[in-house]
Amino acid sequence: MAEIQLQGIVKKYGAFCAVKGVDLEVEDGEFVAFVGPSGCGKSTLLRMIAGLEEITGGHLKIAGKVVNDLEPRARDIAMVFQDYALYPHMSVAENIGFGLKMRGMTADERQSQVAQAADILQITQLLHRKPGQLSGGQRQRVAMGRAIVRRPKVFLFDEPLSNLDAKLRVDMRTQIKRLHGLLKTTTIYVTHDQVEAMTLADRVVILKDGEVVQQGAPVDVYTSPKTRFVGEFIGSPKMNVLDGTCSTGEAGAAIRIGGVPISLPGKRFPAEGKILVGVRPEHLTPCDAGEAMFQTTIDVLEPLGSDTMAICMLDGQELTARLAPDPALRPGSVLHLKVSPQDVHLFDAETHLRL
Ligand code: ATP
Repeated sequence: MAEIQLQGIVKKYGAFCAVKGVDLEVEDGEFVAFVGPSGCGKSTLLRMIAGLEEITGGHLKIAGKVVNDLEPRARDIAMVFQDYALYPHMSVAENIGFGLKMRGMTADERQSQVAQAADILQITQLLHRKPGQLSGGQRQRVAMGRAIVRRPKVFLFDEPLSNLDAKLRVDMRTQIKRLHGLLKTTTIYVTHDQVEAMTLADRVVILKDGEVVQQGAPVDVYTSPKTRFVGEFIGSPKMNVLDGTCSTGEAGAAIRIGGVPISLPGKRFPAEGKILVGVRPEHLTPCDAGEAMFQTTIDVLEPLGSDTMAICMLDGQELTARLAPDPALRPGSVLHLKVSPQDVHLFDAETHLRL
């Protein structure tokens, strides 16, 4: 078993607190992604788990044992970095087998382990080359090969794909997911890219300013963001969040964005005052004026082939809708949009917490 437990983990750099008491459990075999904007503390957290950064406070347990003061190499963890950290003078095979050699494994045993890892990663034909003769994606695979052969209890990935181009990133993402399906090693993966986190992980942990703001299965975080920040951070293109006003008139309670009252049956919101209304671009659909929740004017159209992004204006606020391609859409024209009430996210205007 290689579950990881973080209990009140704190990291201070002088007076600055980079990680502010994180409690978290990663189950044996689970794939967890730490995601958040630059500076939120995700790398620091990962480096503390790896043993590369001293823990200021709290307990870190791996497989039930407190490892706060254990040397990195005694933790039975393999880490894959953004910059690969390969030895330039060694061949791919030597790079992959280096850790095994250090452990005293015989050349024959090493060769068999290296061949197996190379086969999984489809780099057998590259084993004799030097890192300088490889593409970025190939180098990244070698770095992963080096981690695999050690058969560690835990894999830690720190933004492993950020030096690759967009297409290669997607390919390698699939490769990493396939690898986890095969090896089922407990994995923590750090990224600032929410798409990477959502597509790879069983569970995403969203960090902000050194704290966990939400964690859960990707679909749950997408469907029920606890705060405006999570709503906007998870999902692409990002959630629209509009300023609205609650009021109660003859027709009952309604939210107004501009003049038009929006009734949201089944939703709870204050009788009076300001409110934030979150709607994902993919949940907006064009409709007739009679059933419209939002009467907008198209400002900019971005055709993507499969669909079109319509950036619309609604009472001086921007509202992006992801629509089916339609030659009738024109900048400057009026577009009526609706959304199912269950796809509307309401947040408190002051605290930004979900209502
Ligand atoms: P990025 O995606 O940009 O790598 P991150 O979420 O991984 O960001 P960290 O690298 O964990 O962020 O840094 C968290 C905070 O701690 C940042 O404000 C950073 O400036 C600070 N920090 C990191 N390392 C040190 C250090 N050695 N000394 C002082 N402050 C540090």
